[in-house]
Amino acid sequence: MSKNKSSESVKVVVRCRPLNRKEESNGSAEGIVQMDLRLGQVVLRNPRAPPSEPLKTFTFDAVYDANSKQRDLYDESVRPLIDSVLAGFNGTIFAYGQTGTGKTYTMQGAWLDPEKRGVIPNAFDHIFTHISRSQSDKQYLVRASYLEIYREEIRDLLDPNHGSAKALELRESPETGVYVRDLTSCVCKSVKEIEEVMNVGNQARAVGATDMNEHSSRSHALFLITVECSQPGPDGRKHIRVGRLNLVDLAGSERQAKTGVRGERLKEAAKINLSLSALGNVISALADGRSGHVPYRDSKLTRLLQDSLGGNARTVMVATLGPAPQHYDETLTTLRYANRAKNIQNQPRVNEDPKDALLREFQREIARLRAQLNHRKGRSKHKKEDMDGEGWERDGDEDTEGDDEVEKEAREYVKQEEQRLEREKEAIREDRFLLAEEKQRLLGEKERMMGDLRKEQEATEQLTAKYKAMESKLLVGGKNIIDHTNEQQKMLEIKRQEIAEQTRKEREMQQQMLVQDEETLELRETFTSLQQEVEAKTKKLKKLYAKLQCIKAEIQDVNDEHVRSRQELEQTQNELTRELKFKYLIIENFIPPEEKNKIMNRLTFDPEEDQWKFQPLVPAERSFSQMKKRPASAVGYKRPISQYARVAIAMGPHSRYRVGGTMEMFHWIVHRRWSATKVPQRTVHLPRTEPVVSESLAPGKPHSPLAIISITHFST
Ligand code: ADP
Ligand code: MG
Repeated sequence: MSKNKSSESVKVVVRCRPLNRKEESNGSAEGIVQMDLRLGQVVLRNPRAPPSEPLKTFTFDAVYDANSKQRDLYDESVRPLIDSVLAGFNGTIFAYGQTGTGKTYTMQGAWLDPEKRGVIPNAFDHIFTHISRSQSDKQYLVRASYLEIYREEIRDLLDPNHGSAKALELRESPETGVYVRDLTSCVCKSVKEIEEVMNVGNQARAVGATDMNEHSSRSHALFLITVECSQPGPDGRKHIRVGRLNLVDLAGSERQAKTGVRGERLKEAAKINLSLSALGNVISALADGRSGHVPYRDSKLTRLLQDSLGGNARTVMVATLGPAPQHYDETLTTLRYANRAKNIQNQPRVNEDPKDALLREFQREIARLRAQLNHRKGRSKHKKEDMDGEGWERDGDEDTEGDDEVEKEAREYVKQEEQRLEREKEAIREDRFLLAEEKQRLLGEKERMMGDLRKEQEATEQLTAKYKAMESKLLVGGKNIIDHTNEQQKMLEIKRQEIAEQTRKEREMQQQMLVQDEETLELRETFTSLQQEVEAKTKKLKKLYAKLQCIKAEIQDVNDEHVRSRQELEQTQNELTRELKFKYLIIENFIPPEEKNKIMNRLTFDPEEDQWKFQPLVPAERSFSQMKKRPASAVGYKRPISQYARVAIAMGPHSRYRVGGTMEMFHWIVHRRWSATKVPQRTVHLPRTEPVVSESLAPGKPHSPLAIISITHFST
């Protein structure tokens, strides 16, 4: 049901994990989730409802029960997505569900057990195997980044100073859409390297958290892979396709208790699931299709996933469930959420020759270095030819000559040159007809020539190393990155893919048949007698009645949920109002109205950073130049200066320290007056400044500006 030709819906698959030991020992031997793998249906039983209540049925693109294998999920539901990323599409997989239902298990799994490796490690293998098997006219550049969103702050997990680093900012460009500014991205040349990147990030995640389980249930982890591929097109020029893959392990979808907390805790609680509820709102708005406004800007997560939800990307959502009866409500919510997401339409397209392709820059840089190297080689060659009058170069194209050869020849040339210079030096030394002075001069000249030669050699080596490092970052198709010589294994993989494809098609057909069956039932029915007609119609009526009951129950559920979330919102609102009244009380009683007005007038809201900010009193650079023009009167400073003002300078335009500037000005004026009249030592009391300048006048000592005044702290 695509709205236009290029649009396709978000694929939604559901996975249910097995009952765990604790749940089994709690007596819930039987789960509440049943799955029909052939039809892609989930049937949910309400453990609190009477047996007569109809079960809830949801249909998805695929469902995976407790016995499902990681590999099956990958081959059927993820492989096609990664293939399209390799072809230059954007792709996103996100795992959604309550904490403990298997999001991380699905995305990462157990790395060491080949059977239990999740989507991410399988995707790594897939990407690099694909590259190693592709044609040799293709060049690839693979990059990876890893970030998490925690309390609405974006943290770079690959930054070595992860813990202390500032939260990153989101930016938007017309070319690439929304991106994270200054995010570390690592070029990866093999599965091993990209796994290393993942490990580094995972460790950074764990180190920052006091309780990893709690942390992961509250933060969103995004692993981003960019695959750039360049290939000569029919026009003979190299074209670049860029596929971006987002692998997202979302925070737990369960409701976080927000009530009864105040102050900092309240702020924190409000932020914890902001991204998740914003995601829900975005999905609702998109699935609805009628509401024009999609609230992407409400959270960091939805802004980052903007393309993946209703934009230029292919998206797979894996909704994870637990089978235990006590989580019925959460499970139902997850299924509803997933069901809604099915209706989102994306418009994926191949990203061809984007301006910001890094691969293009790399290719240019490599070509430049190559040209420089060839130029050097050419120079050496000419010198050599001049020297012994014969061709030095081997047969063959300059550009295709092996780099090792180039290096070897260069080294050979330097060695020969050195030997020649040595010989010449020897000849000079033994020349009895030369004057000692002349000898010295000639020898010096030869020394200098040797020095130059070595310098040149060093420069060439550096250039070669740089060139090699640069080139090694690009992967060339057809080269064996992974040892896949085993043809049988390759065949096996292909067969498995075919089976997965077949299963998918079968399921689609089954689902279509089911829909058609219901529609055509009516048409096929012909009645031979009135009695028969009555029977048939009664049966149909019963069926429809059951359906009606289902829908009524659904409405009731949705209403209940709506009421629940409204109550929660009201409670949060009450807490916030209380907090606000508290702040007002302080402001009204302790801050002079004129001060308050001044502050209010200077405040502006920065929607990019979602924060209120102070407008500077004076533009920063102007105040700086003003400072500069003052006469120098204290060692190292323009004027006597307090500790307070020094901090102020270090802090930049920080409002807390602004008063320092004014007080300093006062000091300075006072000081100027007194130095003019040569008044002996005095003590001046100034409000709210630190004592700094305190030095008594020594008799006979010239009046240094520092010695003139002593400022004592004015205490209230
Ligand atoms: P989440 O990331 O959603 O909080 P986890 O992935 O950490 O949940 O899973 C919780 C526990 O359940 C883990 O011990 C995991 O090994 C186990 N588990 C999850 N899904 C499965 C599954 N499909 N098969 C077997 N064990 C699973
Ligand atoms: Mg997890």
